[in-house]
Amino acid sequence: MIDEYKHKGARKKLVEELAAKGITDKAVLNAMLKVPRHFFFNKTFYAHAYVDKAFPIDEGQTISQPYTVAYQTQILQVHKGEKVLEIGTGSGYQAAILLEMGVKIYSIERHEKLYKKAKLLLNKMGYQANLKCGDGTKGWPEMAPFDKIIVTAGAPIIPKALMTQLAIGGIMVIPVGNEASQIMICMIKKDEKTFEKIELKNFAFVPLIGEEGWEG
Ligand code: SAM
Repeated sequence: MIDEYKHKGARKKLVEELAAKGITDKAVLNAMLKVPRHFFFNKTFYAHAYVDKAFPIDEGQTISQPYTVAYQTQILQVHKGEKVLEIGTGSGYQAAILLEMGVKIYSIERHEKLYKKAKLLLNKMGYQANLKCGDGTKGWPEMAPFDKIIVTAGAPIIPKALMTQLAIGGIMVIPVGNEASQIMICMIKKDEKTFEKIELKNFAFVPLIGEEGWEG
């Protein structure tokens, strides 16, 4: 019980830090206030859960920095009931934030171990997540179109499959660049062939590996 109070306090501090760093969307901040990020960590590393930094998970991957999660989520401007495709489930934390905001989540992870772990944890937390193990650069055609698409690994290009699977009027957020650094791109689909492309800030993600990503 004392520990839970401690985590809640640390979470509140973290959210205040995110607001001070420029995150203004109340729905995003509220979701981050609610989701216990320490659940996505091994107990030994609980002390790192509310520090605004990325942290290693299994398979040489990372749980994204809280600021990055908030930043990408804010760009998506999600509404309750929307269908959101996430590429790179990782720990499942980003998916939990989106689920907390009331969306229907479809999330793909290429590492089976991470996929299984996230599935178990999100279930245990009471979330209804649609998860799949595979190459997310191909999207999830059977479930398309998606109102929003979020890619949480660094891509060399914007995968064509994801552009196709985005609904008209939909928003995709994806970091694109080389393996060391990427620029966050927001794509708004105007019609079947027209996209508005907005280039935002630089980030450093683990690589997106797959048919329309980097070679594994
Ligand atoms: N969203 C995650 C979270 O909240 O913990 C963080 C994701 S981590 C920065 C990026 C993830 O993308 C890794 O787990 C990695 O295995 C996964 N990934 C890389 N390429 C992928 C692909 N083609 N399809 C699906 N997942 C991929």
